[in-house]
Parts: sequence; structure tokens; C-alpha cells
Amino acid sequence: MNGLLADASTRLEKALKYTSISEDASERLKHPKTSLSVSIPVRMDDGSLKIFQGYRVRYDDTRGPGKGGVRYHPNVTMDEVQSLAFWMTFKCALLNLPFGGAKGGITLNPKELSKQELERLSRGYIEAIADFIGPDIDILAPDVYTNQMIMGWMMDQYSIIQRKISPGVVTGKPLTMGGSQGRDTATGTGAYYVIQTILPKFELIPEKTTVAVQGFGKAGGVVAELLAKSGYKVVAVSDSKGGIYTENGLDILSIRNYKKEHRGITAIYCEDTVCNIGDHESITNEQLLELDVDVLIPAALENQITAENANNVKAKFIFEVANGPITSSADSILDDKGIYVFPDILVNAGGVTVSYFEWVQNRSGLYWTRTEVNERMKDKMMTEAEQVWSIAQQDGVSMRTSAYIHALNRLGDALDAKGTRDYYL
Ligand code: GLU
Repeated sequence: MNGLLADASTRLEKALKYTSISEDASERLKHPKTSLSVSIPVRMDDGSLKIFQGYRVRYDDTRGPGKGGVRYHPNVTMDEVQSLAFWMTFKCALLNLPFGGAKGGITLNPKELSKQELERLSRGYIEAIADFIGPDIDILAPDVYTNQMIMGWMMDQYSIIQRKISPGVVTGKPLTMGGSQGRDTATGTGAYYVIQTILPKFELIPEKTTVAVQGFGKAGGVVAELLAKSGYKVVAVSDSKGGIYTENGLDILSIRNYKKEHRGITAIYCEDTVCNIGDHESITNEQLLELDVDVLIPAALENQITAENANNVKAKFIFEVANGPITSSADSILDDKGIYVFPDILVNAGGVTVSYFEWVQNRSGLYWTRTEVNERMKDKMMTEAEQVWSIAQQDGVSMRTSAYIHALNRLGDALDAKGTRDYYL
């Protein structure tokens, strides 16, 4: 096995020896259960027909229906979707959600499509995978470059196919279509709760703690803002094209507002003098990762810190808000440097946790306030962050291995409780 999934699986291997899960169960977890590849024909605005490549993978559904987002990105491949589904499996188990892990994706650059084309593509994707998903089978959600609007179209299309309103098949929907309060900011907010659980253990004073955030989107933008509001010095942020840095800390609120207005922060580091965010210098994403800061938050895509640049990382703490931003070959380099790495399956789990709350609300028909949602999420994030912390102390392992041990124990129990059903011995 090669590629992203193979890389992801090495984390599983490392954790296995600290668990008592059966060999059958561990073997099962090394392979995605079902992988679907579909072609989606879309009528483009100019009348031509274009075929897009889409995927949906259900990695494991022992603990409940598959759960995971749908990514729209030019680099989407089956290997990537399988790894993302693998991470969802462990993430849901880690947070003790009654879900398995799944993921979907379409290979495209959504910025090249009109809104109408994007809608036809999203509805076409649901047509193609309709027999494979459902509120009790596999539940979709947003991921990189997908949003509430797209989730709304998907839920609507599924409801048309089923001839009944089925809000529980998709989470991250618009509020008017059964979405949950707090889902839009959940990933960043959840990461903030994990950070707030961990950093006080090291007696760090927010005002003296410097932070760099790679990725200023749905997750990175929110966590940067919450940290800045609590007094942390967020000295650098970036988007896919580059970033900005200032030693004394950026005015994150102004940058967030600027981004909302201009649909990006590119103009800021392109020396646009119209923006009013104070002194700053332009940096590349590579430079951001190597800044001499206390806390580094990769909140963009996979494979940002690899064996090539891990040695140059100077941060003392890394909180993975993106899925898979550090390769397994970089893990040991960072460990040797004494850097604490808090893994994606814990740090970014606020998103799927509030997705779970949305699904529960859809099923009960009773909707919660934003405060209720946030309080419940905070409780779950802090409880599991404490667990990961104490397993790491107890077993003398990294936070990543500890998170996998914790998730594996829950998954192993569930797999074994099902007996041999899965193996047809
Ligand atoms: N795409 C998000 C993740 O990677 C959220 C998934 C969900 O809400 O189901 O965790």
C-alpha cells in the first residue's frame, strides 16, 4: 500500500500495541469497507456536457451510520477520500459519537463553475450516490470548498429522490432547512476549546503567547479570531496564496471583516494600502510554518509539514485544525524536537460533533439555541481532550498515539461486540 491512506494507517499501527483489541478487529480497520467512484454528467452554461469524477467512501460503520464531509477540490483522488474517511472513523470514535467514518469528494476547481453549474453538479452527485447514503446509512457534511448552500441543494435533491423531506441525510445545512445553530463556526470553536484545555497545563500567559495560523477559512479564521479575543498574539495568518506577519500581533477582527468584504485576504499581502490593518509584512505559506512562534495551527490542507521541512519548525505546540497536515514521516522529527502535536482527530472534531447535534435535532424536531449547542460541544471537546492528555501521560506516548489508542479501544469494543458478523467465517 502506498499514498495517503498508507501514511494514515501507520498511526493506527503505532497505537495498536497499546490496546487489547482483537487481531480480527484491527485487521478490519486497516481497509475501507466500501469505496464508490462515480462519474457525474453536468450540462454547462454554454450548452456543452462535462463529466466530473466523484467519490464516496464508507470506511467503517460499526459504531453507527457513516459520517463525513464532501470536498470539492482539484486534487481530490480516491486515495485522499479514503484517508479522510479513515480519519472520520477515528474522529467519531474519539468523540464517542454514534457514527462510523465516511467521506466524499469531487475533483474540480469550484471557482471555475458558475453558481448554476455548481448546483447542477451537486444535485448530480447526489443522484449518483443516492443508493449509498441516507440518515441511517451515511450522512454528508461540508468540507474544503463546500458550504451551507451546497448542503442545502444536496439535502433537497435527496428528498426529491426519496419523495419525503429527509434533513438527516446532510448536516451543515442552512438554518432554514434544518441546520443547527453554531455549525458554521463549530470546527474553529471546537479547536479553541481544545487549546483552552491544553495550554493552561503549561502555564502559558495568552498575552505572551504567539500564534501562527495557516488557512483563514471556515476553521482557521474562527480559531484565529477566538484566540485573538482571548488575548493571544496571533502574529501570522495566510490563505492558499500567501500570508501576512507582524511581530506585535495582527488585528484579526479587521482582517476577518476585510475578508468578508473582499472574499479573500490576498489583497492584503499584495500590499493593498486600502486595507486598514496596521503594519505587516508579506510571507509565504512555507515561511509561516517555520516562524518562531509558540503555537502553530495548520488549518488548510494535508501534507504541509513533511520530512523535508519538519526540522525547520520552531513552534512548541502544534494544533492540527486541518485533516492530515503532518505526514507520518514528520511525526518522529517533531517528537524528537520536543514539539507537542495535538492531532486532527481531536482538534478539528468540533465540526462533526455539532453535525451530530444537527442530526439529533433533525430526528427529534426540537431545535437548540447557539449557547446550548456550544455548551454541549465544549463539554465533549474538553472531556475527550483531557482523556487524550491522561492516556499520553499514562502510556508515555505522543498525543497522536494517545488519541488513536482512545479511539481504537472504542472501535475495537464495538467490532468485537458484533462478533463474527463481519467476517462470515
Ligand atoms: N468535514 C468535517 C471534518 O473533516 C466535518 C465532517 C462532518 O461534519 O460530518 O471533520
